[in-house]
Amino acid sequence: MSKPKIVILGGGFGGLFTALDLAGSADVSLVSEENHFLFTPMLYEYLSGEVEAWHIAPRFDELLDNNVHFVQSHVTAIDLTAQSVSLSTYEKSLNYDVLVLALGGVTNYVGVEGAEGFSLPFRKLAHADNLRHRMVTALDRIPPDMAPQDVRRELTFAVVGAGASGCELSTKMADLLTDAFKRRALHGEPRVLVIEMGDRVVPGMGDQIREFVEEALLESRVEVHTKTRVVKVTKDELTFEHEGNQETLKTAGVVWTGGVKMSPLLEQLDVEKNRRGLLIVEPTLHLSQHVNVFALGDIAFYPDATPTLAGTAQLAFQQASLAARNIKAYLEGNEMHTKHFEELGEAISLGTERAAVLTGGKAFGGALARQARFALYTSRLPTWHHRLRVGASWFFGGTAPQPLLPLGLER
Ligand SMILES: Cc1cc2nc3c(=O)[nH]c(=O)nc-3n(C[C@H](O)[C@H](O)[C@H](O)COP(=O)(O)OP(=O)(O)OC[C@H]3O[C@@H](n4cnc5c(N)ncnc54)[C@H](O)[C@@H]3O)c2cc1C
Repeated sequence: MSKPKIVILGGGFGGLFTALDLAGSADVSLVSEENHFLFTPMLYEYLSGEVEAWHIAPRFDELLDNNVHFVQSHVTAIDLTAQSVSLSTYEKSLNYDVLVLALGGVTNYVGVEGAEGFSLPFRKLAHADNLRHRMVTALDRIPPDMAPQDVRRELTFAVVGAGASGCELSTKMADLLTDAFKRRALHGEPRVLVIEMGDRVVPGMGDQIREFVEEALLESRVEVHTKTRVVKVTKDELTFEHEGNQETLKTAGVVWTGGVKMSPLLEQLDVEKNRRGLLIVEPTLHLSQHVNVFALGDIAFYPDATPTLAGTAQLAFQQASLAARNIKAYLEGNEMHTKHFEELGEAISLGTERAAVLTGGKAFGGALARQARFALYTSRLPTWHHRLRVGASWFFGGTAPQPLLPLGLER
């Protein structure tokens, strides 16, 4: 008898970890548009060169053995009635007995004029490469004798959104640029702004961590603009509004971390969704109208999870083991399980020298927290083999940032 076909869409935290748990139990296919997984919490360290691509973005063919068939393709349509999935690179559609939806989100520019066309997203390796290239080319244009006020204007970068992502990114950028100033003996200092509509930074995090974040933003000399709304982005300008007053700045780059929306593919699905368009799943993670379709991670609304976990890798990672367990139960005709998901702690990178970690209700920061974060994340990487290789590389090879060198000498 042929094995049941399980098709998993999306090779991020939800999809990859489900595939790893299901390997060998059925005919499992993992479909994803990139050829690698991405450990997003360390994308900032990839930007700064503290880690290399292979550390945080291992290829699927290295992670998955012969028990999981990897298909690199873009999913173009999902037909829940015909139980099939259309892919950009294959004429024939892929049929399934069980479908796992783990397609994650995309950057949400919330309709701000010019934002999609002119600001840089920050969700993939290529985005980090583009941003690093943008910083280097901006630095390369500055002659050593340029006056400090002109340098500052030419090297103004803005990060939109002061959630964890915006604060991690802006402190990292500010530290890298400041280091490059010293190495290139430029006059003055760079300007990095973080712009936030709300009244405080890291609104989704507790006060203990916020204190460390605020201190780091200050130390890295990031300009924080709260209660401020970006109204327009152009090729080299940003316009924002604060208390009714508009201001336009010349910018060398604007990075958008201001929001996430669901994969556009979900719009096609005629299933139950919440106000934000997230798929409402049963506590067993399958869709109420389709017992053979499971959804998890950023695209799923799971009522029994601590609210601060929504939209996190932590949640997708924890849900993957429940999804795999319930898929096996479904295929064997057994009862499915439910689980309450708790927060496992918080860790946030703050510039190139420090971090902040909250664990067991206690927060600590500085260089020690940076080391603790590296250790913690080593243990969260996929597969033992990869963890061991990366752990050894960080331990013996170090994790020093790579300076922003002139273009010809860059990585
Ligand atoms: C820069 C950054 C830093 C983050 N830091 C943290 C952190 O420190 N802690 C934390 O808990 N969370 C963090 N997050 C959030 C975390 O990454 C997400 O919550 C998590 O990745 C969700 O997992 P997922 O499986 O739902 O989606 P994802 O991990 O986004 O995976 C979705 C996958 O689907 C693929 N895909 C999408 N559309 C298609 C298509 N049409 N066809 C084929 N493949 C497709 C994508 O390429 C991707 O591989 C961060 C996110 C970003 C962007």
